[in-house]
Amino acid sequence: MDYYFTLDLWKKFLIFLGLVFQLYTIQTVGFPPLLPFFFLNIVNIPFLRKRRIQEKMPSRRQVIYEVKFYLLSLFVFTVIAGVFLFFFPLYRIIVVTFDLATPFYVILAQFIAVILLHDTYFYWTHRMMHHTKLYRWVHLVHHKSVNPTPLASYSFHPWETLVHSAFFPLFLLVWGLTFGKIHILAVVAWLIYYPTMNVYGHLGIEIMPRWFVRSKFTKWFATSVHHNLHHHKNRGHYGLYFTFWDRICGTTMPEYETEFEKVHDRRIKTSLEVTI
Ligand SMILES: [Zn+2]
Ligand SMILES: [Zn+2]
Repeated sequence: MDYYFTLDLWKKFLIFLGLVFQLYTIQTVGFPPLLPFFFLNIVNIPFLRKRRIQEKMPSRRQVIYEVKFYLLSLFVFTVIAGVFLFFFPLYRIIVVTFDLATPFYVILAQFIAVILLHDTYFYWTHRMMHHTKLYRWVHLVHHKSVNPTPLASYSFHPWETLVHSAFFPLFLLVWGLTFGKIHILAVVAWLIYYPTMNVYGHLGIEIMPRWFVRSKFTKWFATSVHHNLHHHKNRGHYGLYFTFWDRICGTTMPEYETEFEKVHDRRIKTSLEVTI
């Protein structure tokens, strides 16, 4: 451990980077358990049709596009993770603590800090990627999924995947310099929460109850309709886990709550359906 503290800052940063690339790869390779959700989206099951956010099924062309860029992201990160794993095999015990005596509230606080900061990072980098030039050259790949399936959650241009993945080394750098090591359980919780919420955002089916968007306790959590509207209308709703930043910055779509409730009542045509 003392060896770590004698390293130059740039070497520590490379170690952080090594950690993130391995974690990201585990997360990406860990995607297959979520594939059933993909099939729920692309197979037209009558029971679920009522809860589809966009009634129209995703086009075959879009699904093939998503698969292609999902596999490309997987490839890019596997290669990079391999390189960093080869050069920095010790980072796991350097950056992360496995201390069994750590109180639960500390682990919980670390987890909450990760997701709040990640949501902030995501919101602002996402807004940046909607700048005309970045959108056309980078973010457009993700927006080819106008009617997203769960595979769209990793359907990115490689540059965008790098931007998303830069969060964790940056977080660890700031956290490490400020508070020291992070507990492995907080990291694992984030690694489960991130892809789960990412897949939920691209599920194409709303599973939250009608009251969810109006309750003063739950309206702060982004729903599948929240992100689906972003894909469909290509404006507003830049947040990942929460609606804080969209509400603060005025980027919440005015029709969000009514669109959410209309999904619960298929007898009323939603503007999503009308515009298809
Ligand atoms: Zn976007
Ligand atoms: Zn998306």
